[in-house]
Amino acid sequence: MNTFETKNTPSPDAGGHFGPYGGKFVPETLIPVLSELERVYAAAVADPAFTKRYDSLLANFVGRPTPLYFAERLTKHLDGPKIYLKREDLCHTGAHKINNALGQMLLAERMGKKRIIAETGAGQHGVATATAAARFGLECVVYMGEVDMARQAVNVKRMEMLGTEVRPVTAGQRTLKEAVSEAIRDWVANSSTTHYVLGSALGPHPFPMIVRDFQSVIGREARYAILAEEGRLPDLLVACVGGGSNSIGLFHPFLNDASVRMMGVEAGGRGNALGEHAARFDGGRPGVLQGTRTYVLQDDSGQIALTHSVSAGLDYAAVGPEHALLREIGRAEYDRVSDDEALEAYSLLNRLEGILPALESSHAVAWMIKHAAEMDGNEIVIVNLSGRGDKDLDQVLALGRTGLCSKR
Ligand SMILES: *Cc1c(COP(=O)(O)O)cnc(C)c1O
Repeated sequence: MNTFETKNTPSPDAGGHFGPYGGKFVPETLIPVLSELERVYAAAVADPAFTKRYDSLLANFVGRPTPLYFAERLTKHLDGPKIYLKREDLCHTGAHKINNALGQMLLAERMGKKRIIAETGAGQHGVATATAAARFGLECVVYMGEVDMARQAVNVKRMEMLGTEVRPVTAGQRTLKEAVSEAIRDWVANSSTTHYVLGSALGPHPFPMIVRDFQSVIGREARYAILAEEGRLPDLLVACVGGGSNSIGLFHPFLNDASVRMMGVEAGGRGNALGEHAARFDGGRPGVLQGTRTYVLQDDSGQIALTHSVSAGLDYAAVGPEHALLREIGRAEYDRVSDDEALEAYSLLNRLEGILPALESSHAVAWMIKHAAEMDGNEIVIVNLSGRGDKDLDQVLALGRTGLCSKR
């Protein structure tokens, strides 16, 4: 299972386009920086020493491979297909984001860049990057909106304890979108010394490709494990879609397997009105946001819309450009589930399997719960559990949604 063995279509073209999506919509000064990253990345993946080091970090620092776990009680409860969970919640730092943060740290090292910057919303990508930077002894600055810093005070402390400087962003809504803009501004000013670790399969080329490739370890392991366990490929893959990195990581190694359906689940929030959800494919339209052309939630005049989700990791106005293409060509499907449905799934999986999923991952579980009756017992589904839900417990308690009163 060589790390970069599967190079499946559709890859981006030389300009980083996934069909009509993707590309590099950046200030002129960043073009040579992105070109350097492309060159260094291409050389890195062709270098066995790079792959060996990355694989060793994944095995010994992250704890890979993560299990592909048969959810026996959930399967029995739903009386539909056989449900397996890919356990990214068991990764070091509690989610898939560390896979990408470590890979990009190795790229920074190859480029001789000693300073790391990143943006974070909920703090998960910030913590993963701060962790990886500590491991590599690199200076690290994380941009975070002031509102998010207040909401995620524990993650701010975690980053600071790892030696990272968390810089408050006070512009606009003071959340993720403004933090990304601030990180890009820093990068433009300091690109000769600084690498920008982008946290999802988003932004200008080559980031959507690089993040996808680093996260594809999820799908490669899942494919290997299901063939070993069941002797055949799954019928369906289900994953939540924020920027789209855990989902593209699961989907990508299966893209050439025509029999495998793929379902990406977006945040349906609390309603259909613009501003009440983060379902880019069900309310958005093509546009450019933060370096890439993709589906964006926007008003009639093209102003970026506000978004809402109970899960901070899914709460963003744009989706990764490769997903926009996969949807357009009919290779993957996308649907939404509501805050309420995700909260139900959060409790149910905990009760039935003793696994507390992240609220993001709960969206994928909730979709499966809703649609299990449409499938039969001979079918096999892999649901990606992108992260663990301890981080969400305070929020769920505050909403009074722990499910403690329901009957056993
Ligand atoms: C950040 C995050 C997500 C959403 O990001 P993707 O890039 O879409 O994967 C999903 N799950 C968890 C646990 C996260 O931390």
